Amino acid sequence: MTLRLYNTMTREVGDFVPLTPGRVSLYTCGPTIWNFAHIGNFRTFLFEDLLRRWLEASGFDVFHIMNLTDVDDRTIQAALKAGVTLREHVEPYAQAFFADRDYLRIRSAHAYPRATQFIAPMISLVESLLAKGVAYRGDDGSVYFAIARFPEYGRLSQLDQRELRSGASGRVSSDEYAKEDARDFVLWKAAQPDDEAVGAAWDAPFGRGRPGWHLECSAMALDLVREKWGEDVLDIHCGAVDLIFPHHEDEIAQSCAHTGKPDFARVWMHAEFLNVRGTKMSKRFGNYTTARDLQEDGTDAAALRLFFFQTHYRQKLDLNDESLGAATSALRRLGDFAARLATGPGTVSGAVGEGATAELEGAAKQLREQFAAGLDDDLNAPRALAALFDFVTAGNRALDRGAAACAPARDAFDWATGILDILPTAREADAGLATWVEERIQARKAARQARNFAEADAIRDELAAKGVTLEDGPGGTKWRAG
Ligand SMILES: [Zn+2]
Repeated sequence: MTLRLYNTMTREVGDFVPLTPGRVSLYTCGPTIWNFAHIGNFRTFLFEDLLRRWLEASGFDVFHIMNLTDVDDRTIQAALKAGVTLREHVEPYAQAFFADRDYLRIRSAHAYPRATQFIAPMISLVESLLAKGVAYRGDDGSVYFAIARFPEYGRLSQLDQRELRSGASGRVSSDEYAKEDARDFVLWKAAQPDDEAVGAAWDAPFGRGRPGWHLECSAMALDLVREKWGEDVLDIHCGAVDLIFPHHEDEIAQSCAHTGKPDFARVWMHAEFLNVRGTKMSKRFGNYTTARDLQEDGTDAAALRLFFFQTHYRQKLDLNDESLGAATSALRRLGDFAARLATGPGTVSGAVGEGATAELEGAAKQLREQFAAGLDDDLNAPRALAALFDFVTAGNRALDRGAAACAPARDAFDWATGILDILPTAREADAGLATWVEERIQARKAARQARNFAEADAIRDELAAKGVTLEDGPGGTKWRAG
């Protein structure tokens, strides 16, 4: 099987071939830490988490970089309003982001570069672009990228020149007359009193100022991947669909003009939006929900992960109470099955149906194949989930018929649920209890066989103290908790 991914650059699903066999550099645009990230941002981050986990499960050595944007208009304005420095303002939001990430069980990236820590590479990149003649210093002291001198501009977004112009003019403000062309974007913004007030200005050979947002990602990605593997092309670059233009288009222009390579990333992947009750989730519309809102409401992170993975990352998704409730029910079914598989009759009793056990093993094999086929198909998580729930159905049927909860079944189930990381949080504790109870039952059985009845009774009391009652029968020992 080969991993196939949809590439926004080609608008096609194709075989994934990394620059160097066996390893993958993955750059994902991170949050701007001016405020709490909303749950819509986390849809993208969860898609990226699954991509990373699947690459690793497929045997790739992944180097994952996620930047934290700590200097831009929003962080500066928020710091000014709060009367603190930029650094003082962003730090609590960086920590909040990491806490939300942990709550949602998102694996930590290998590097979280912050723009303010990479000012030197950003200055070098601007110098390189000036030297190559694709950048110029405007009348306002800022440095701009000259789109007319980079003919490939617009390849990712596939917008025509008219659209590019209107896209740019929607964003222009006071810099309109400083630029040679309305489409040009800023690389380095000349320092303003507001920047100086919050400590967001740096000296550079081309004038004191601060980096533009697009420049930050190019400089940090190139610097880190060069340091790690001596490369200047990324394997996969991800973000939400609204980053295609202008952010990723501009990253490509800066990076490729600098490296001279035809591509900045071999594959570009973009996650669709999350809608909340039909409206695009955005703080501007006041309908945002943060990850912490959901956590405070007692939402199991596993239910959220399941909810997001039920829809393919390239399709729009609607978050509402009903859809979250359905995910919670599905999660309960998964948790019940996990507990059953951990404490199936075969673990205690020897009397099991051999035919049913073979059936369960067959279902486990099918789970592995179907699950992998789903994720290999452009990270089709809904297909992978369908394979998992088919296994739950087949597994429950086989267990009803006396199948032993055999190792192949448990391993396949643990493997699939581990990649998605969707076992209920509370059930993890239950599964821990089940493992402990099984271990004590085996110890009690051994004590009885050795005719050490005092020890066997002590174990029964120990279990009773935890609310576990035992029932000895002809088929072995059964137990009940609570
Ligand atoms: Zn970026």
